Amino acid sequence: MLSERARQIKPSPTLAIDSKAKAMKAEGLDVINFGVGEPDFDTPENIKEAAIKAIRDGFTKYTPVGGTDKLKDAVTGKLAADNGLEYGRAEVIVSCGAKHSLYNAMQALLDPGDEVIIPAPYWVSYPEQVLLGGAKPVFLKTLEEDGFLLTASAFERAITKKTKALILNSPSNPTGSSYDRPALERIAEVAVKKDIFIISDEIYEKLLYGGARHVSIASLGPEVKKRTIVINGVSKAYAMTGWRIGYAAGPAELVKAMTAIQSQSTSNPSSISQAAAVEALKGPQDSVRRMAAEFDKRRRRIVEALNGLGPVRCAAPAGAFYVFPNTRALYAKSPEISSSSKLAMYLLEKARVAVVPGDAFGDDDFIRLSYATGIEQIEKGIERIKAALAAL
Ligand code: PMP
Ligand code: GLU
Repeated sequence: MLSERARQIKPSPTLAIDSKAKAMKAEGLDVINFGVGEPDFDTPENIKEAAIKAIRDGFTKYTPVGGTDKLKDAVTGKLAADNGLEYGRAEVIVSCGAKHSLYNAMQALLDPGDEVIIPAPYWVSYPEQVLLGGAKPVFLKTLEEDGFLLTASAFERAITKKTKALILNSPSNPTGSSYDRPALERIAEVAVKKDIFIISDEIYEKLLYGGARHVSIASLGPEVKKRTIVINGVSKAYAMTGWRIGYAAGPAELVKAMTAIQSQSTSNPSSISQAAAVEALKGPQDSVRRMAAEFDKRRRRIVEALNGLGPVRCAAPAGAFYVFPNTRALYAKSPEISSSSKLAMYLLEKARVAVVPGDAFGDDDFIRLSYATGIEQIEKGIERIKAALAAL
C-alpha cells in the first residue's frame, strides 16, 4: 500500500524518545528527560500577550502563504541587525517551524540523483528530508579531536559531479560545535568555487557560550550569499517550540518555489503564532539572554558531572543545549550496554533517564543529553546514571 518514499522514511528518533519518556511519566514513573531538545522555560510573557491580543483583535484568518509583511519585516530586520544580511520580503518565507523551512528548501532544491553532503554527527531530520526530496545523503564523518568541525579540504574531497548542496549546522545539534569566521570562509570558498548550494541551519545561534560569536556563512560575500538558504526560527531562542514558526532567507527564485510548495501543502503558518513571533523578534531580548545564561550554568554542571563518571569523556560544547559524551569505553563493560542504543535503553529502564543514542545522529560512540532541563534534574539524573552503571 505504501509508497517507496514512505517506506524508506524513519520517524524522528528524538521525538520518539520524548514520547516514550512522556508516556512513562504519565504512567506515574519518575523519568528524567534528557531526550528531546526543548527549552524547559515558559514562552516569555510579552510574547504570549501578543498572541492573546491577536486572538482578541480577530487576527484569526488566513495570512499570505509565506507569512505576513509584518513578520517578514521583523525577520529581515533581525537578519540585518544580528547577521549583517540584507534581504527583501521576496527573499524570506515563514513556515511551520524550522523543520518545515528545511523541508521546503529540500523539496525546492533537490532532484533524483542529486547528492547532499551532511557532516556527521548530524541532526536526525537532515538525511530523511534529503531522501524525501528524492536525493542521496552523503555523510562526511567529523572527528571528536577536530571539535566535530568539517574542514574545507574534506568538504572539497567529498564533492562529485552530482553534489548539489551542503547542510551546515552551527551551532550544531547534537555536538554543540560552532564554526568561527575563518573556518566558514574556507568552506564558503570551496562552495563558491565548486558551485555548491549551502543550507545553513542557524536555529541555535542565540545559544553560544564563553564569548563565541555567531557568524552566518551567507554574510561572507555576495557569491556565497546567492548560494545559501539561511534557516532559523523562534523555537529554541524564545522557548516557542509548540508555536511552530521557522523562517528561511535566500535567493528570491528559491523562496518563490518554496512558497509555491507551501501554498499546496500547509498554507500559512498559524496567524496567531506569527503575531507572537513578531513580538519575539522585535520586543525586548532580555529573556533570551537570561535563558542563555541559565543554559550556560547547566552546561558547565553537566559536563563536569559526566566527566566524573569514569570511562565517559565529555567535551564542553560551544553552543546549543546538548552534550555529546563519548561512551565507547562503556560498551565493553557488559553486553547489556554494548552500543549507544542498548546503553540508552538500559538507562531508560534501569535509571529512568532518557537520553538519545548516538547512532540516531550517525555515530554510535556517543549519546546525546539535552540540558534544557533544570539543574536539580541534571544532578539527580547523573546520580542515577552513576548508580545504574555501578550495578552492572
Ligand atoms: N534544526 C535543528 C538543528 C534542530 O535541532 C531543530 C529542533 N527541532 C530544528 C531545526 C527544528 O526546529 P523547529 O522546532 O523550529 O521545527
Ligand atoms: N530538535 C529537537 C531535538 O533534536 C527536537 C526534536 C525533533 O524535532 O526531532 O531533540
